[in-house]
Amino acid sequence: MPEGATLKFGNEANEFKCFQCGRCCQISGFVRVEENEAKEIARYLGISLAELRQRYTTTMRLDGKDVEILRDHPGTTRCIFLDEKNRCIVHPVKPKQCRTFPLEWKTPGAHLYCAGLQAMRKKSA
Ligand code: SF4
Repeated sequence: MPEGATLKFGNEANEFKCFQCGRCCQISGFVRVEENEAKEIARYLGISLAELRQRYTTTMRLDGKDVEILRDHPGTTRCIFLDEKNRCIVHPVKPKQCRTFPLEWKTPGAHLYCAGLQAMRKKSA
């Protein structure tokens, strides 16, 4: 989610605000990274694209194609870019899939863990 982003449906009760809780970055799943996004993240971190791919991304086969995805911290479902305080270390350049959650897409149980969606529900109840 973009920091401080809101989604307006016409009244204040339905505005979405991201609380930066980082829970969406700890759910099991995968985050796709387009080549231009990988280059931007590498530039932001001051490393080469090859190093980024060695340390932070991997590939998986999806619909007959190899796609680049973010790694998790080893042995967990926590995104590799999440720090100890659950902050995204590449927030300004994170992939589109991260930036558009949960405004353009969300997982089926997102309202169970997303603080922003929960707050929005409370306000409109
Ligand atoms: S779970 Fe919701 S409130 Fe928490 S960081 Fe993700 S989008 Fe923001």
